Amino acid sequence: MSITIYNTLTREKEKFHPIQKDKVMMYVCGPTVYNYIHIGNARPAIVFDTVRRYLEYKKYEVTYVLNFTDVDDKIIEAAKNQNEKVQDLTNRFIDAYLTDVKQLGVKEATYHPRVTETMDDIIVFIEQLIEKGYAYAVDGDVYFKPRKFSEYGKLSDQSIDELRAGARIKIGEKKSDPLDFALWKKAKEGEMAWDSPWGQGRPGWHIECSAMAKKYLGETIDIHAGGQDLTFPHHENEIAQSEALNEKPFANYWMHNGYMNIDNEKMSKSLDNFVLTKDLLAQHDPMVLRFFMLSVHYRNPINFTDELLEGAKNSFERIKTAYYNLEHRKQVSTNIGQNSEEWLAKINLHQQNFEQAMDDDFNTANGITVLFELARDANIYLDENQTSVEVINAFQQKIVLLLNILGIQLEEEQLLEEDIEALIKEREEARKNKDYGRADEIRDLLKEKNIILEDTAQGVRWRREG
Ligand SMILES: [Zn+2]
Repeated sequence: MSITIYNTLTREKEKFHPIQKDKVMMYVCGPTVYNYIHIGNARPAIVFDTVRRYLEYKKYEVTYVLNFTDVDDKIIEAAKNQNEKVQDLTNRFIDAYLTDVKQLGVKEATYHPRVTETMDDIIVFIEQLIEKGYAYAVDGDVYFKPRKFSEYGKLSDQSIDELRAGARIKIGEKKSDPLDFALWKKAKEGEMAWDSPWGQGRPGWHIECSAMAKKYLGETIDIHAGGQDLTFPHHENEIAQSEALNEKPFANYWMHNGYMNIDNEKMSKSLDNFVLTKDLLAQHDPMVLRFFMLSVHYRNPINFTDELLEGAKNSFERIKTAYYNLEHRKQVSTNIGQNSEEWLAKINLHQQNFEQAMDDDFNTANGITVLFELARDANIYLDENQTSVEVINAFQQKIVLLLNILGIQLEEEQLLEEDIEALIKEREEARKNKDYGRADEIRDLLKEKNIILEDTAQGVRWRREG
């Protein structure tokens, strides 16, 4: 079975074919770092991390880029209000972001580019757009002309005239068409600024993603992802910039996650109902939050309430309980099982069903349903008073494997990870001391626990055998 992805660009589910056979180039729009992230920001972090994990499970090598917007009006405003240097403020909130998402089981990106570290590439990108006639400089600002890009509006499915009707030129803006958007903004007195061919200033928001995607992934990428609210104008403008310059498709698949509501209301400043991720993490098991987030398909809206979070906690508990009951049964040493072959086949079938759910546009909600079915079968097996260690191990391994694909770890697993690292260290020490007997012993011990060691040029790596 191959993966299908709902592509916002074509408004259809399409078979996934990456540009290079076994590699995936993926770009996700990251946060503007002037505040702690709210629970709505945690959603794309978790869902696109899960997409990445599933692609990796399917043996793709994924290059994952998530940018940090570390200069913009809101950041400058926040730094001024807090009497802090812009860079100190952004460093602080980048660290806070990484701490939050790490707790939620999000893997670190391959690259985390920042605007302030990509300035040369951004300036070159803008210069080339001017040379090609898609952009113009006026009194220190540079604007892009969407009207010149004939496919403008294709992502958000709007015509240029519909868009024109809603656009206005604000006071102080020097653009010649209301649709034009800024690639470069002239610095105001005393503001953080960079030298450019147009004088001191800083880039607009949209251009950074076009420049970073090109720098780290190339002119055409496989998957571009972000929140639904970014479709217009941000992603529409990214497409216009990149395709105008490179004369190639920018991204083959556009993925957008749905909105998140709090108690059935949109999160908004006026309602003052922002729930910070760090506050939730202080009160709840991060894995429950992740489980909750994945219990709804990523394109659907998700409603956050205390009751629903409690429900997710109970659901996750059901799966955990099955796992620990299996563990407990292993201590009974009779090791007798009936129809073991059938049970093993059934367990494998659950994995196939799980894959089928995930192949269908990463349907984690259905994937979790399969996990419940697996847990239910485990309970039936235990109710029959069966004790085949082979079957019990197979149940446990499958539960762990499927949870891990979703980026969810059982508590014991995390401890185990530390134990694994410690054993690997001990094995390396043994080898250094030419104690090969002990080194082999450790390797065998890990193998028994389905941990496979690989000696690489970068040192020893390990993986769980599915
Ligand atoms: Zn972006």
